[in-house]
Amino acid sequence: MADSSIFADGFRTDPYWWDAAPPDDEGDAPPPEQVDVAVVGSGYTGLSAALELARGGVNVVVLEAHRFGEGASTRSGGMVSGGINVGKGGDIERQFGAERVRAMIEEAADSYGHFERLIEREAIDCQYRRSGRFVGAHTPAAYAGMAARVATLNEHAEAGARLVPPERQRDELGSDFYHGGMVVERAGGVHPSLYHQGLRRACRAAGVKLSAHTAVEGIDGTAGDLTVRTARGPVRAREVVLGTNGYTGAATPWHRRRVVPVGSYIIATEPLGEDRIRELFPTMRVIADTKRVLYYFRPSPDGTRVVFGGRASFRTRTALETAPVLYDYMCGVFPQLRGVKISHAWTGNVAFTFDRVPHMGDSGGVHYAMGCNGSGVVMMSHLGHRTALKILGTTNRPSAFDGLPFETRPLYHGRPWFLPAVGAWYKLRDWIDRKTAA
Ligand SMILES: Cc1cc2nc3c(=O)[nH]c(=O)nc-3n(C[C@H](O)[C@H](O)[C@H](O)COP(=O)(O)OP(=O)(O)OC[C@H]3O[C@@H](n4cnc5c(N)ncnc54)[C@H](O)[C@@H]3O)c2cc1C
Repeated sequence: MADSSIFADGFRTDPYWWDAAPPDDEGDAPPPEQVDVAVVGSGYTGLSAALELARGGVNVVVLEAHRFGEGASTRSGGMVSGGINVGKGGDIERQFGAERVRAMIEEAADSYGHFERLIEREAIDCQYRRSGRFVGAHTPAAYAGMAARVATLNEHAEAGARLVPPERQRDELGSDFYHGGMVVERAGGVHPSLYHQGLRRACRAAGVKLSAHTAVEGIDGTAGDLTVRTARGPVRAREVVLGTNGYTGAATPWHRRRVVPVGSYIIATEPLGEDRIRELFPTMRVIADTKRVLYYFRPSPDGTRVVFGGRASFRTRTALETAPVLYDYMCGVFPQLRGVKISHAWTGNVAFTFDRVPHMGDSGGVHYAMGCNGSGVVMMSHLGHRTALKILGTTNRPSAFDGLPFETRPLYHGRPWFLPAVGAWYKLRDWIDRKTAA
């Protein structure tokens, strides 16, 4: 049973972001019998694809199983960057070759520009700030390894990255938890559900048809003549775009075998006052770290709260169950916060891939863009957009993420039975790293 003393009056197990912009079903209509393109999923991937397609004169419907935005897109930490996380933790150079990896990092860097232009073009007021990111090194060895990463990010992603030695860490963070780190200037924070709400509005204005509470149950047929079976009747479409990421299910078994849904958990504190937040985050940057089971945290966009996230559990746990775990993680970084209360705790699914890179591709008229590996606000917006350009035939340069071999593993059918063991192993290695470094 969770320690109730950490919960503020009115504590909720919904995302803090939903206070300002909850998912909705505004504009919902039964799905049309026939369209050019049917998009499955109403997160950033689906909406970005649909928006571009509609602007290109395509008749498009978004089919969403729940309310619009109910998935990860309104639940994230809202930390944005271009290319910092591509291939993190995987050996993608060996797999894809240095040239392809360079193209991926460069495209990921460009995707950040796309994100900034999109919110400006669509006048989306989403409290976006290019604040920069501080990445804390969990051990001296991790700090030493950052020099090469800084060089790569600056060379290929114009990231404005630089090392922050341990003795300067207090310039960035009111904490001695890390062993120095790096700052990436070309990064920032956004209010994720205000961003999503802006995309919803832009889609409606562009003439995208939107069907909420319309779970897709299967897709039949061949390219040019597909039938999407839904809970509200069939939809015929020339092409389909799958934007189901960490919620990919039985309707698309091939894709389900290729993404691993992992729960990520977040808490938000009660308002602590701007002065206190400035003590914790002197530069008001968003924060991540180098642990295998990382923490990510930031000041709320209004500068009054701490929003703190991490993989508090690798089993299926509720936000209420994991809130005390995250609270302890937060107090490990900021011991001065012990005693504050939390107002919100929530969870959502991210989608990992076996090679740790996001994927887009198509087969038989069914396009997909999925596998954010925990960083998808910018990347999935970008890959949704790129998928639309591909369908429209308006790009002559394929995406570096398009058509990569999309691996699965024997005995994996979409239920990640191995996660508790893998998660425990990663946590143990993080713990050993820190103990032996102390
Ligand atoms: C707690 C948390 C923290 C995160 N923090 C960050 C962060 O700080 N920075 C960052 O860059 N990324 C972060 N992410 C990842 C980011 O949120 C996702 O990568 C991104 O939102 C994925 O967008 P999407 O559109 O691909 O998927 P989603 O937003 O998950 O949308 C998928 C949608 O598909 C729908 N769907 C699934 N199956 C069907 C079906 N059969 N029929 C109809 N609809 C269906 C679902 O209901 C869902 O609405 C975080 C994610 C979580 C959960």
